[in-house]
Amino acid sequence: MDFNPSDEERVFRDQVSAFCSRKIAPRWVDIDERGEIEPQLIKDMADAGLLGVTLPEEYGGQGGTFTEAAIAGEEIAYSGPALSIAVLYLIQASWPYIVHRYGGEELRYEILPRIAAGEAVIGISSTEAHGGSDISSILCRADRLEDGSWVINGEKSMTSLPSVVEKMPWGGGWFLIARTGDPALKHRTITDFLVLMKRDGRLVEGISYKPWTEFARRGLDTSVIRFDNVRVEPKYVVGGVNSGFKIAMEGFNLARSMIGAVCVGCARWLMDQAVEWLRRRKVFGKPLASYQGISFKLADYAKELEAARLLSYKAAWMADRYYLRREDGVSLSDVALWGAMAKLKCAGLAVDLGEDVMKWFGGASYFKETPIFRAWLAAFSYVVGAEGAENIMRLIIAREILGREYVE
Ligand SMILES: Cc1cc2nc3c(=O)[nH]c(=O)nc-3n(C[C@H](O)[C@H](O)[C@H](O)COP(=O)(O)OP(=O)(O)OC[C@H]3O[C@@H](n4cnc5c(N)ncnc54)[C@H](O)[C@@H]3O)c2cc1C
Repeated sequence: MDFNPSDEERVFRDQVSAFCSRKIAPRWVDIDERGEIEPQLIKDMADAGLLGVTLPEEYGGQGGTFTEAAIAGEEIAYSGPALSIAVLYLIQASWPYIVHRYGGEELRYEILPRIAAGEAVIGISSTEAHGGSDISSILCRADRLEDGSWVINGEKSMTSLPSVVEKMPWGGGWFLIARTGDPALKHRTITDFLVLMKRDGRLVEGISYKPWTEFARRGLDTSVIRFDNVRVEPKYVVGGVNSGFKIAMEGFNLARSMIGAVCVGCARWLMDQAVEWLRRRKVFGKPLASYQGISFKLADYAKELEAARLLSYKAAWMADRYYLRREDGVSLSDVALWGAMAKLKCAGLAVDLGEDVMKWFGGASYFKETPIFRAWLAAFSYVVGAEGAENIMRLIIAREILGREYVE
């Protein structure tokens, strides 16, 4: 067992960190306040090799590992703890890999090099108004026409990225989970599509959206998105017809391991804010750091942060072992289990730590001039819902430990 990163990983972290210090750290508050990640920043990320980390070089990617993708996720979140840039990044580090794994060749060559080049982005469109956790109950339909193409109709209630897709030079869209048969058959009649809202610089007909007003991670929008008779060619089916549920779960598993690393980056930033403040701020003639009621709590958080960090890297390492090294004895269940544990642990830690850091800052934390609330609320998105709510992570973990027959 070796807890040291390899030389390549160390160099990679230094390079990403240098990029983030120049391009993200000075502007993350402004991005969050204005509610827009500029396309130029996305292009800069692509030029720095950050938008195709896990994609093979043949598709313009870096041919890197999920561990490297997690390293970059941690650094991006540390430099931009309101997380919108990190969220954009982690979605590109996970869902395009699934398109690469299960999409046809024509589709792969159309979209993946454009993502890696910063000309297109894709997101995930799954959640519907009647409940996001139960994906097997989705109603958004895809019906096959006589010529083999598909027509999509329905509404997704929380889909991130539409306004970003709209501004990308080439375009992009979503990995969309749709119903392609009898809803009573639940996960057995679900098919995955890549549905583009913009292609070749032009908006596709039939897709409209209305953004929610978000508390944090405001550089990108999460919207209600409608699909009205949207025509999709057969090449945009990802994987087999009616076999989309399991494939989609693979995407969520990968995304969750990245979310772990991103939340660790966010928590590291919160920790640094706390350390600096507790040393500097004097009350009753002494620095806050000298009160054990506070310093002991900080010590506990330091321990938890290290544990969370190890967990997040183990989740990424599991993905490497399953997808890249194809090791015997590592299964998809392992990737699911470690991804769920990483997301549950790391997002929860960032939120708990954020709440205490807010309290340690006293009244100052209540004003926008102190940006801690942005990091705290951004991490909260991963506790309440984004890419699976907390209890769903517990469900996955319990299922793996106790057995499916005991945990529904
Ligand atoms: C900022 C943000 C961005 C998002 N972006 C996207 C996106 O890009 N694409 C997308 O598809 N979705 C997106 N979502 C939606 C997200 O995936 C859902 O919020 C999530 O899946 C939970 O669904 P829900 O909100 O409908 O909650 P529900 O499914 O209604 O769950 C409500 C509560 O019940 C709990 N619960 C559910 N089932 C069980 C159970 N069996 N046992 C115990 N407790 C249970 C949950 O943990 C949760 O606390 C986003 C959400 C947020 C907040």
